[in-house]
Amino acid sequence: MIKILAITNQKGGVGKTTTSINLAASLVEAGKRVLLVDLDPQGNATMGSGVDKRLLQHTVYHVLLGERPIADVRVVSTPGKYDLIPANQDLAGAEVEMVNLEQREARLKAALQTVGKEYDFILMDCPPALNLLTLNGLCAAQAVMIPMQCEYFALEGLSDLVNTIKRVRVNFNPILKIEGLLRTMFDPRNVLAKQVSDQLQQHFGDKVYRTVIPRNIRLAEAPGFGVPVLFHDKLSKGALAYLALAKEIMDATA
Ligand code: ATP
Ligand code: MG
Repeated sequence: MIKILAITNQKGGVGKTTTSINLAASLVEAGKRVLLVDLDPQGNATMGSGVDKRLLQHTVYHVLLGERPIADVRVVSTPGKYDLIPANQDLAGAEVEMVNLEQREARLKAALQTVGKEYDFILMDCPPALNLLTLNGLCAAQAVMIPMQCEYFALEGLSDLVNTIKRVRVNFNPILKIEGLLRTMFDPRNVLAKQVSDQLQQHFGDKVYRTVIPRNIRLAEAPGFGVPVLFHDKLSKGALAYLALAKEIMDATA
């Protein structure tokens, strides 16, 4: 059965894109067929997958606007061996241009239905905002993965996100659930991080993934080479953590 996950958090810089790229590559490593959708005009997931966003003729923008079928826009991440619907700055205009379109929140969902059978997992890297692009991700998804840093304000932002998910469930997508909260850039020596992590577990229980992503320089370096961390340093703590996350998700899905 296919699993469609929106990787989202309106807070910036929490590890959404790092998680999208490395989870996609780790699932492929485990034998799964994966499609990654870049929903962020920053195009970081595109660049980090080894695809130059500046050279693209067509992107997810054209899919959302209905100008191209998804199959025409899709490219392969050569290092990651997953398929990618890329994005670049063009996407920044999409929100305004989509305003008058019918079912503007469900455009990605409709497009993904045409290729869904080809994949075991579809991951969507959302932008750091609760905007129409993120809403398209939430409407297309079965579940949400929320990467977060264990910092003081993290919990506050989380309640906004949880409320948004509830609203999307009522208005657009009744099956949407929270798949899990992922602790990222974790430093076990940081006392506050441990406290916030404990609070998260108290509030959200088994919605918190057991796998914790440590702060690891290899994860930060890999996008500079346009590769998932597995192909930069296979034995790094970061690479092993994302392989463990892939396994945790596959075990839960099986
Ligand atoms: P945005 O909200 O801008 O889209 P994001 O949530 O996608 O950001 P990333 O781009 O994945 O976050 O990560 C932010 C920065 O932190 C990047 O420079 C990334 O390389 C670095 N980073 C992410 N995860 C880790 C980690 N576990 N260890 C070290 N650095 C990390
Ligand atoms: Mg990002």
